[in-house]
Amino acid sequence: MSPEPFEASTMAPVVIPRAEHTVSRSLIDENSLKVLYRLRRHGYRAYLVGGSVRDLLLGRQPKDFDVGTDATPDQVRKLFRNCRLVGRRFRLAHIMFGRDSLIEVATFRRKPEQDEIPTLEEGGLHFAENVFGSPGEDAFRRDFTINALFYDIDDFSIVDYMGGMQDLRDGVIRVIGDPDERFAEDPVRMLRALEFAARLGFELEPSVPPAIERCAEQIAAASPARIREELMELFRHKVSGQVLQKADKIGLLEFLVPDFKPSRESFDLLRQLDMRTASGVAVREFFILAAMTLHRFVQQVQPEMTVGDVHKLANHLLAGHCRYFSVANGIKHQARELLIAFFRFQRGRGRRGEQRFLRHPATAEALELYRLWCETINSDRDQLESWTRALAGDLGDVKSAPKGDGKRKRRPRRRKKPPVADAVADVVDVANNKSEADVSSEGTS
Ligand code: ATP
Ligand code: MG
Repeated sequence: MSPEPFEASTMAPVVIPRAEHTVSRSLIDENSLKVLYRLRRHGYRAYLVGGSVRDLLLGRQPKDFDVGTDATPDQVRKLFRNCRLVGRRFRLAHIMFGRDSLIEVATFRRKPEQDEIPTLEEGGLHFAENVFGSPGEDAFRRDFTINALFYDIDDFSIVDYMGGMQDLRDGVIRVIGDPDERFAEDPVRMLRALEFAARLGFELEPSVPPAIERCAEQIAAASPARIREELMELFRHKVSGQVLQKADKIGLLEFLVPDFKPSRESFDLLRQLDMRTASGVAVREFFILAAMTLHRFVQQVQPEMTVGDVHKLANHLLAGHCRYFSVANGIKHQARELLIAFFRFQRGRGRRGEQRFLRHPATAEALELYRLWCETINSDRDQLESWTRALAGDLGDVKSAPKGDGKRKRRPRRRKKPPVADAVADVVDVANNKSEADVSSEGTS
């Protein structure tokens, strides 16, 4: 067995006293402070750990404030009434404050051996192992130096075992230990490296990109559920376009999301989506799924297709990704609705059934996707404008359908209900019905 580059269990950290750093208690979540203080009062070590220390030092608002301690989960439970232990192999304490606030407390642990990496079922989405360790070992088992900083509630110092402070100052994502080894140990770290570089505007330390190139294939063996969760993080943090494009360049993408077909249009669309998220619109998985599939859909859909065909095409394009990542049918269904509605938008205004289509609850969101696409390819602006006005209730500018004999034609009865009731498909179906007049889709500006 090769020795570690240093002895993590006994290594002394660099300690940065309160006077020499910017993390103030006023910036730390009140409930986390309560947890830290109580652990400390009972003689345990109590650190703020992980992303929160990094973000505080960067002057950013942390997403969550995790606590690390040398108290065991059972000892933590004894100290907090509002505590429950979660995780089967490695037990984490969740301390609840009211309904919405939860502080996660983890006992310091060491780097797992190869066969100790948990599956999702065993460890949840938290990267978890089952062996307690020292603070130094806990720092060493983390992914990047900037994610391995601790804030000690005892004297308000920053405890830096891995050189994370310098890397924060330099804007560098540096893997702890040997990148090839650490990526082999947990391939999801390759994606996280690209993600943090994009989120923070940092550079990858020069040995990282070639290591990702060498290890890229291994990500295919990582748990799809963990990858799916990290992918969602890319979208929540508004870096999906940038990161997936970089992942493509570096050879990771094909193993990461095998069903996503990279193209300039797709990456540009994801960048548009990221900009929309940055403007404050929450992004949901079915929308992401539709966006990731859209370029291929646009390439394959034909204006003369029936809705049945479009439905099948959308299903076909979504199937692989949904199977691979075990995406629930409901989410797939919503993504398909967006694609079918997109088809309807692209075909233009003035079709029969338009009123029902406009009233359908999914239509407004589908228009958002259409808008992003029009902005991406810088085209169809008039049509977009017309649909936008129609959805806002201004329907006056489209030629109405020819009246014929003035009698309303009945829609032929369906013999059987389709197996999946798909309201948008239904609506488009009305518009697409051969027996009904197909009216002009032009003149809509
Ligand atoms: P954010 O929550 O803002 O996305 P974070 O750094 O807190 O960023 P989390 O995914 O919440 O990221 O993980 C918390 C901490 O756990 C990280 O800071 C890192 O120290 C450690 N960690 C997470 N994933 C891994 C991993 N795959 N390998 C090693 N350590 C990890
Ligand atoms: Mg976090």
